[in-house]
Amino acid sequence: MIHVGIGYDVHQLVEGRPLILGGVEIPHTMGLDGHSDADALAHAITDAVLGALGEVDIGHFFPNTDPRWKGAPSRVFLEEAARQVGLRGGRIVNIDATLLAEAPKIFLHIPAMKQNLGSALGIDPRKVGVKATTNETMGFIGRREGIAAMAVASVDLPE
Ligand code: MG
Repeated sequence: MIHVGIGYDVHQLVEGRPLILGGVEIPHTMGLDGHSDADALAHAITDAVLGALGEVDIGHFFPNTDPRWKGAPSRVFLEEAARQVGLRGGRIVNIDATLLAEAPKIFLHIPAMKQNLGSALGIDPRKVGVKATTNETMGFIGRREGIAAMAVASVDLPE
């Protein structure tokens, strides 16, 4: 039976932090602020996978008050979501995600992101869709105050 989950995440852009999206460090004047590496794309995908399982969200699995996750690479969150799928005897069918960022340009980094995300989730990178759009200069994303990501996950679970 195919189950679908949705995920959304946003982090603030600040100076003095690396910009990490989909596990790729992208050259930029600012980076995303957060307890972990603040990889909004990985977080949205983690929540989409957990959502497909009807599970609680990433913040419950990995509280930002827990020092274990301070500066943590978000790969561990993806790996845990994939492990939860495995515990249910399921498999991730595909992921699709969209990044919302006014800057920098993401396109050239997408193949590396897909590689990282697929590897963390234990699926073929071709089953991970990553797209990017600007917010046409509108709102907090348009003002470059933050970067958001949304994702859906399709998970095949036994009845
Ligand atoms: Mg987050």
